[in-house]
Amino acid sequence: MPTVSEKRPTLEDVNKALDELNNAIIDHTKWVASWSRSAICHTPISDEYRSGRFSHECKFGQWYYSAHHDFLRENLEFITLEKLHDKMHNSVHRIINKISSGKNLPASEYDIFLKHEVLFATALAKLRDDLLGLSHSYDYLTGTLNRQAFFQLLSQEHARIKRTSDFCCLMLVDIDHFKRVNDQYGHKAGDTVLRYIADFLNSNLRPYDLTCRFGGEEFLVCLPNTTVGIARTAIERLREKISQARIQVADGVEIQITASFGISLLSADEDWSIAIEHADEAMYQAKARGRNRVVVWKEAFQE
Ligand code: GH3
Ligand code: MG
Ligand code: MG
Repeated sequence: MPTVSEKRPTLEDVNKALDELNNAIIDHTKWVASWSRSAICHTPISDEYRSGRFSHECKFGQWYYSAHHDFLRENLEFITLEKLHDKMHNSVHRIINKISSGKNLPASEYDIFLKHEVLFATALAKLRDDLLGLSHSYDYLTGTLNRQAFFQLLSQEHARIKRTSDFCCLMLVDIDHFKRVNDQYGHKAGDTVLRYIADFLNSNLRPYDLTCRFGGEEFLVCLPNTTVGIARTAIERLREKISQARIQVADGVEIQITASFGISLLSADEDWSIAIEHADEAMYQAKARGRNRVVVWKEAFQE
């Protein structure tokens, strides 16, 4: 799981990497089947298996050395794969040279290949598990983080502000009268609005701000390095922009919505869940005061 300060991949990036990895695993399995068939059945061995650089040229190698996703290249299992893949290819290279020159293949040589292949396949499975785990940290509809992943990152951020005395704000945003959107335009249109808001937050916040689907039509955002004053100004701008946006929910159908915002400050002395409660109380104040507004949490709300 990336930390708060790192740029996080999108759900689309993770799913794309998973697809590519699955194809690379299939290619690797086909490669093992193909060369071992030639070796066992004494059919002609393709020249390509003799190349010393075959670990770069096989389909798996082609994918590995052209994989562009940063989060993948930085993954420890992904890094480990290179050496394991090379070792496995070297063992096959030796086997094929021996067979081609008419010598018997000692079982010990084949065992070396099997050992490297098992290590390689195990690392592939671990990488796949890592990516699947990462893909499960997102909300499927909106691509924002889900609660569990967000809470993990929030608790890291809380530990950071305890160490550094930095400021960090939370913002809870709830779409106003969202039920009416579903009732009037249908559930699909409602989903389009949710995706629109998620994309809007993603493109209007900083890359290291964290957005989570907190509930049906509520998003919780963690704003590191942000004072309440800065948060209020920035979120006021977001509120206005959302209220002016025309969201296309069907062919030729555009609607406008508003949202209510609550802001709280993450305190080093209290659990982070308290800051979420405060943001929630502030958001309910925004609703009570007429919606389409930004409210900062105050002690007075408790009375
Ligand atoms: P308020 O201004 O007080 O927030 O009113 P509201 O209508 O936005 O709030 P309410 O809690 O009454 O309704 C929220 C609605 O959100 C009800 C629920 O059906 C809808 N909803 C929750 N999750 C989804 C979803 O994934 N897709 C769609 N289309 N609707 C959803
Ligand atoms: Mg709500
Ligand atoms: Mg609502």
